[in-house]
Amino acid sequence: MHLLELGIEGIEPSASARAAQPPPNSATVTAISQRMAPKSKPREPVAQMTVNKASGLFGDMSSATEKIPTSEETFEEIWNDVGDCTRCPLHRERTHVVHTEGNRRARLMFVGEAPGADEDAQARPFVGKAGQLLTRIIEAIGLKREEVIIGNVNRCRPPGNRPPTPEEAAMCKPFLLREIAIVQPEVIVVLGNTAMKNLLDTREGITKLRGKFQEYKGIKVMPTFHPAYLLRDPSKKRETWEDLKMVRDYLDSAGGRRVDQ
Ligand code: URA
Repeated sequence: MHLLELGIEGIEPSASARAAQPPPNSATVTAISQRMAPKSKPREPVAQMTVNKASGLFGDMSSATEKIPTSEETFEEIWNDVGDCTRCPLHRERTHVVHTEGNRRARLMFVGEAPGADEDAQARPFVGKAGQLLTRIIEAIGLKREEVIIGNVNRCRPPGNRPPTPEEAAMCKPFLLREIAIVQPEVIVVLGNTAMKNLLDTREGITKLRGKFQEYKGIKVMPTFHPAYLLRDPSKKRETWEDLKMVRDYLDSAGGRRVDQ
């Protein structure tokens, strides 16, 4: 049982999460994809600039909200641009550049800080102990890891797993933002302070903002604790579960597009 594996007891998963328990055959992803398929209409493409006009007592009031631009790029083009990157000092001690991994049509994206030792060795994000916990968290909300997409602010491992400096993060973040523009996820879960501060450009801490939906250019963003922190302090798993339930409920209620491919 996923929640028990997470160390969380006594919380009933939603009906939809129960329905998403893996079926006994290879149709697992298809079945879950169908559950995640559009209930009403597919999401409209997000325009670069959306202008909402409200007219009334005070006449026409226009408010412009910046939306993430649609992108014609491919991940491969972005990764070519990253290349054998030497833009910041982190390249000196890395073994591999670790790119974003997962379903490029995902409704849900997770963003972490930077690769650790296991990720650096395997050139894949979130494959170490924290990554295994992240996989269980994803499964606890009725999804499979292959259905979501997972990336980091920085693609090279900081020595000793220190947080990337603001300069290092600023150098690498644009590649992630370009990937986000391709995927156009409905929700991004930012894991921990580094991911949250870099995506939301905020000075608030994760403890203050976790569990409260934020927004990045029209995309809902849920800040929550980093799984590495949960490994150090398992008592925080309950709050993380509360945050992820909000994400699950939002995705369930929003309908949305398919997550095959
Ligand atoms: N921690 C992160 O922030 N990212 C990873 O890919 C692994 C651990």
